[in-house]
Amino acid sequence: MYGYMKKLLRVNLTAGTITEEFPDEETLKLYLGGCGLATKYLFDEVKAGIDPLGPENKLIFMTGPMTGTSAPSTGRYSVVAKSPLTGLWGHANSGGYWGRDFKRAGFDGVIFEGISETPVFLVLDEGKARLMDASHLWGKNTSETTKLIRQELGGKFNVATIGIGGENLVKYAAIINDADEPHWGRAAGRCGLGAVMGSKKLKAIAVRGTAKIEVADNEKYREEAKLRFDWVNQSLLKMSLEVFGTATMLDMVNVKGGFPTRNFQTGVFKGADNINGTAINDNILVDQKPCFACPIHCGRISEIKEGTYQSKGEGPEYESLCSLGSMCDIDNLEAITFAHFLCNEYGLDTISAGATIAFSMECFEKKILTLKETENIEIKFGDSDVLIKMVHLIAKREGIGNLLAEGSKKMSEKLGHGSEAFAMHVKGLELPAYDSRAAKITGLGFATANRGGDHMTSFIEGPTFLSMPFLIVDAELSDELEASKEDTKILMDYENAFGVFDSIGGCKFMGMVLTGEDWAKMIETLMGYEFSESDFRILGERIFNLQRLYNIREGLTRANDTLPKRLLEEPLPEGPAKGHIVDLEPLLDSYYEYRGWDIDGKPTSATLERLNLDWVKI
Ligand code: SF4
Repeated sequence: MYGYMKKLLRVNLTAGTITEEFPDEETLKLYLGGCGLATKYLFDEVKAGIDPLGPENKLIFMTGPMTGTSAPSTGRYSVVAKSPLTGLWGHANSGGYWGRDFKRAGFDGVIFEGISETPVFLVLDEGKARLMDASHLWGKNTSETTKLIRQELGGKFNVATIGIGGENLVKYAAIINDADEPHWGRAAGRCGLGAVMGSKKLKAIAVRGTAKIEVADNEKYREEAKLRFDWVNQSLLKMSLEVFGTATMLDMVNVKGGFPTRNFQTGVFKGADNINGTAINDNILVDQKPCFACPIHCGRISEIKEGTYQSKGEGPEYESLCSLGSMCDIDNLEAITFAHFLCNEYGLDTISAGATIAFSMECFEKKILTLKETENIEIKFGDSDVLIKMVHLIAKREGIGNLLAEGSKKMSEKLGHGSEAFAMHVKGLELPAYDSRAAKITGLGFATANRGGDHMTSFIEGPTFLSMPFLIVDAELSDELEASKEDTKILMDYENAFGVFDSIGGCKFMGMVLTGEDWAKMIETLMGYEFSESDFRILGERIFNLQRLYNIREGLTRANDTLPKRLLEEPLPEGPAKGHIVDLEPLLDSYYEYRGWDIDGKPTSATLERLNLDWVKI
């Protein structure tokens, strides 16, 4: 099998043992690698109902067969485990260089089991693996941990690590890779997998190596990859993302009235000009960074040169500008950027952290949270100092931060008083920076994403809010305020296609420029067996359904495929989508039908058979 290093590690942290194995050819063909293969392991090896932070959960890091090859933007890796935030299938994905370096160290993935008695970190060095003591690293932030490990080991090690957020089991703790210069950090952010890492007392994974990835037809693969790299390099995508970073989205979403503001109380943010791509470029930007093998430099390096928030680091991205900005009604770019840097240092998901803070601000406004509970902190919308203070308290689980560290779902369950209606999450995962009332089909995407309220599963906000065709799915959506039955099939096609990206190690932005046929061709040339565009789409569908089956085994039903009451019942008060809500149920009906699921959202036996999933018994 080409594209693989043919070595998967199994590290039992309770026993301190490390063994090697590799799946058979049939399993690889059915699940490929990355998120797909990791999900298969999780499904097979982790029983329903276990504690996500207990020894029975497994934490699986997996690269894809394209990770580290010359195809455009293929430096990514996935992490899969049962999520402590949602209690369901959890997945996080990250770019940068760590995925490539992991593979060059000679491995495709690693499965962590059990819990170590004392803090440890794993070292993968030129095909060899060893666990080392991390007691001296416990309590350190991500960039410092990275520096210290590099000093201790010498040489060019790349590190993926948790900060104190993960150590303190913050339910939305992230794993940060490339956390130090020259790349400054990328995050496997969502679903709280940093907390799973913390629960296992696993501080970091350091990797180094020079191993080569075997390709079935090297010369042809180089040609195929170069051709597509050049297309991406000449694309409109590159022009906008490189100049403005992901913040390029901000004005486009705001102008459509879908930029979540004041915890989704409105979709129009008056302070947009103070925090958009132009504001970043004019005030704080010092460099633009690519991930491995990517012609697009969408990463931002920013510096606040003086004042209270003096600092330098990676970001801020579009999502943070919303969650730590407009969601909290803050248009102070320096404060948002500093809060973003803090999240990277503590290892927190900026989306969930910001959304939970915004939720607490609304609870305070509505007197559901009082000064007694907050220990005299006035958690008010628009207060930059409070935003920063809350990030510190969450990461340290101090004071009211201990409650916020549980995420908005658990918080609302504890606080009650109707707060569930405006706790802006799906299945426990806080929603991203798009108000579905201004682009209805995104609501279906957030409701059906297997990891919860997530924008990266279908990436449907791209073609809707950007009004740009994505070549990965050859179909046009209806007007964003009118989702049609056909749109639900298009959404499904996006979900399936992007599931393959997570399994090969690719960046989903490439879905705007390259087609399914492009990816199928590159996969075929890399791996040396016939692989058509139809294989590409079926593979994605199989992986999506297996994730769904994992969740069903955990008790998920149609009732969980929903949105916060605010989006279903509270019309937007202003902007082009004024008066709109999301009418979700009819969309769910037709989506289930296209998926081949029954009325409760469970795959039928015919669907399971068609997808080679008929071995699953639930
Ligand atoms: S488009 Fe941006 S996120 Fe994607 S690989 Fe390139 S630099 Fe990384």
